Amino acid sequence: MALDDRHWFSEPFGDEGIAFSLKIRRKLHEKQTPFQKIEVFETERWGNLLVIDGCMMLTSRDNFTYHEMMSHPVLFTHPAPKRVLIIGGGDCGVLQEVLKHPGVEQCVQVDIDEGVTRAALQYFPELCTANDDPRAELRFEDGLQYLKDCAVGSLDVVIVDSTDPVGPAEGLFGESFLRDVHRALTDDGLLVQQSESPILHVDSLIRDLHQAMRGAGFTRLATLQFPVVSYPTGWWSATMASKGADLTRFRENDAREADLGTHYYSADMHRAALTAPPFCQHRFTEQLRKR
Ligand code: SAM
Repeated sequence: MALDDRHWFSEPFGDEGIAFSLKIRRKLHEKQTPFQKIEVFETERWGNLLVIDGCMMLTSRDNFTYHEMMSHPVLFTHPAPKRVLIIGGGDCGVLQEVLKHPGVEQCVQVDIDEGVTRAALQYFPELCTANDDPRAELRFEDGLQYLKDCAVGSLDVVIVDSTDPVGPAEGLFGESFLRDVHRALTDDGLLVQQSESPILHVDSLIRDLHQAMRGAGFTRLATLQFPVVSYPTGWWSATMASKGADLTRFRENDAREADLGTHYYSADMHRAALTAPPFCQHRFTEQLRKR
């Protein structure tokens, strides 16, 4: 059945022989910034849809799984996160989740493209409720350069919520950037980075990212798996990295007692997200449950 592009937005995943489509009512916004093309559509059943360079970034209806899983697992794994840095995250959904943690004293968000945040403020205001939190600082610059300038040991948690590793985000998956992250983190500091789809990338991008993280000096890795309906295959991941901390252990009681108002994250889902199915276990050996 050919989908009429007047009524459907489709994102083909080229060489994977798949595509994902959402039925749309109309286009609400289009802007070509110096960095990327930003579009927003009104969909029939999924609220608004944010697209960057033809790739679905989020919908009003399904973004919660991603924003919660990019924030709460790493924050509950850290013993006492106070200083958090988000690279990317221009839609402000991760910022909103991070600032639900009362112990966080500062969250700097560095996105290269202010056009994304402007679009979020207009079409996804429900994601921007923490933008005026006194602990939040929004900066619009290249995350690669920002990390080069970061003071040694100045951060507790770094969250890389970037677009796919092409265009401005390509360097964010490289060893040089990850070495700058390693240097900016304290000894018990943690990194979490969106690491694409396990069913597509366990033996490509995820393998390469693990390699780059180890090359940058991180010694423990754990890849979380969770659903994101509007991402390629609907099966997504985020990889945490530490300088030695066991990433399969987290502040479970705090996670159970916290009243974060989450719709996907819970202590049980955190534990489940660390579980690797057999086809991934050769890659995620560190997080296999001790017998
Ligand atoms: N969750 C989405 C995903 O997984 O594709 C990404 C969300 S967010 C919209 C991605 C952000 O990364 C964009 O706003 C983009 O501007 C930003 N970005 C890309 N390269 C960057 C860089 N080098 N420094 C800072 N932000 C960057």
